[in-house]
Amino acid sequence: MKRVSILGATGSVGQSTIDLISRDPDAYDVVALTGGGNVARLAADARALKADLAVVAQEDLLPDLRAALAGSGLEAAAGRDALIEAARRPADWVMSAIVGAAGLAPGLAALEQGATLALANKESLVTAGPLLIATAKAHGARILPVDSEHSAIFQALVGEDAAAVTRVILTASGGAFRDWPLERLAAATVAEASSHPNWDMGQRITIDSASMFNKALEMIEAREFFGFTPDQIEVLVHPQSLVHALVGFCDGGLMAHVGPPDMRHAIGYALNWPDRRSLPVATLDLAAVGTLEFRAPCETRYPALRLAREVMAAGGLSGAIFNAAKERALDHFIAGRVRFTDMSAIVEDTLSVLAARPEARCDDPTLDVVAHMDHLARDEADRAAMTRQV
Ligand code: NAD
Ligand code: MG
Repeated sequence: MKRVSILGATGSVGQSTIDLISRDPDAYDVVALTGGGNVARLAADARALKADLAVVAQEDLLPDLRAALAGSGLEAAAGRDALIEAARRPADWVMSAIVGAAGLAPGLAALEQGATLALANKESLVTAGPLLIATAKAHGARILPVDSEHSAIFQALVGEDAAAVTRVILTASGGAFRDWPLERLAAATVAEASSHPNWDMGQRITIDSASMFNKALEMIEAREFFGFTPDQIEVLVHPQSLVHALVGFCDGGLMAHVGPPDMRHAIGYALNWPDRRSLPVATLDLAAVGTLEFRAPCETRYPALRLAREVMAAGGLSGAIFNAAKERALDHFIAGRVRFTDMSAIVEDTLSVLAARPEARCDDPTLDVVAHMDHLARDEADRAAMTRQV
């Protein structure tokens, strides 16, 4: 039996992971499930999967979780330290599906106990890629990509010589505002930004798809995970979301990964790796699809892509600054304090204040150093947001 833990079990990726595991209960021994605040969901899944431990991030929800697990004999805990302890419980495979930089410390804890980390939480690679990869190496642990584009690249690279790769193309749906006139973007509402044309995902990543901050994070993720140079990483708008990524080789060949927009493919690939097993994913009927479209992204519509290139060029802790500023800008947008188009301006302002500082030049940071920069960037982004408040 494979011992598995799911961090962020109550979210979109977490629930898709549970869906796969529930289909084959005899194959998995569930160690820990964690959630942010949805105690009812967390407790129901912990009972159904007979997890050893359930942890809720919000400390004040511990009595609720205990009540929901009463009589089950399952362990309950709450708070940030408990999350890290849950990630540290010996397991063979840990899904990292917390949203945001909050996923970094638990992900590191899972690697420290030698688990294979299935990484949906791209923010941890953007914030602290070198630290995550060094931690995996030091503990003989492995990181497998779960972001659909990075899973696609990973699959296209099987059996290939990395030195023969010349380019990688990440596809993007273009998000909710792909076809909006540019002058309407400033007035876009949270509700409008929260609907994705093709994927069903958590609210934050859905809004990040509309702004393409999600693709910007993924460019940096591709650089950190695979070591591609910034000029090898391209982005194409592909409205159908069926081709997830393409890898180009020195002989001109391009390997594309094609499949329906269903995260259970990428999650299942990481769960079964290095084997392939059948998954409950629809069979694609390309004749019915008919046409696959591709076009270059407009950088005026999506300034996040330019910022990602600036971050990759600057290196050091600029990824941590970028991610933290983006998280705060998104918080302010969701709270109705700033406009949709202010988010990129807030991130740009924050980078311009912090990325040139000597302490941002660190290429080999510890978790404390990263956390300090993350904190500074959140404060700076809050200041930048204040000046733009609507
Ligand atoms: P979600 O919002 O649906 O779920 C996030 C999970 O994290 C929930 O369990 C939530 O309770 C928990 N959480 C939130 N804040 C927390 C905190 N401070 N501490 C601990 N737990 C916390 O998000 P999602 O869409 O499932 O995305 C999860 C991660 O996977 C993100 O990094 C996202 O970028 C990545 N991802 C998601 C998709 C997708 O299809 N949803 C695809 C690719 C990558
Ligand atoms: Mg993705």
